[in-house]
Amino acid sequence: MSTLTKEEREIIESSIRDIPDFPKPGIIFKDITTLLNNPKAFQALMNHLTKRYESYNLDYVAGIDARGFIFGSILADRLGIGFVPIRKKGKLPYTTVSEKYSLEYGFDEVEVHIDAFAKEEARVLLIDDLIATGGTAKAASSLIGKVGATCVEACFIAELDFLKGRDGIEAEVYSVLHFD
Ligand code: AMP
Repeated sequence: MSTLTKEEREIIESSIRDIPDFPKPGIIFKDITTLLNNPKAFQALMNHLTKRYESYNLDYVAGIDARGFIFGSILADRLGIGFVPIRKKGKLPYTTVSEKYSLEYGFDEVEVHIDAFAKEEARVLLIDDLIATGGTAKAASSLIGKVGATCVEACFIAELDFLKGRDGIEAEVYSVLHFD
């Protein structure tokens, strides 16, 4: 198990930029592009995640469209395991299984290829950049179950604690950073 030093945590946290009123008034958007182009912060984060998950006996990392693909594919490569994209509706070319989830107004839908977790009883880590209400992650983790795999843990770089998004997720939840 790996814990971040205070210095590493500060480097990562200070590399994430707040953009007020994006994409709409009242939302403070956590912009991780300034983490990605900061090699010290990006490496500290990926080293931490690699150390944390190397003892989890995982078979796949599943990343949520689209920022989860960045962290998830690097982590999968470092752990020597496969990466599976969980995509927004209509993007995956082969047969898919899908899960709807509610947004503030209306619905969205995520999909995964039916044969994405080829290994039997696969142990899967779900990853995304941020958990807000938890709707996306809840739908993604239930998709993993629908295709016969187990979501061992859901991992986020940042969690908006006040939205209590983790409460609806059956898997363990780990967030590197917490914001009130
Ligand atoms: P939710 O389903 O409400 O947990 O929303 C999570 C998804 O929306 C993730 O893929 C995030 O990248 C994105 N998201 C939601 N709120 C924010 C925010 N304040 N800053 C950055 N990304 C966000």
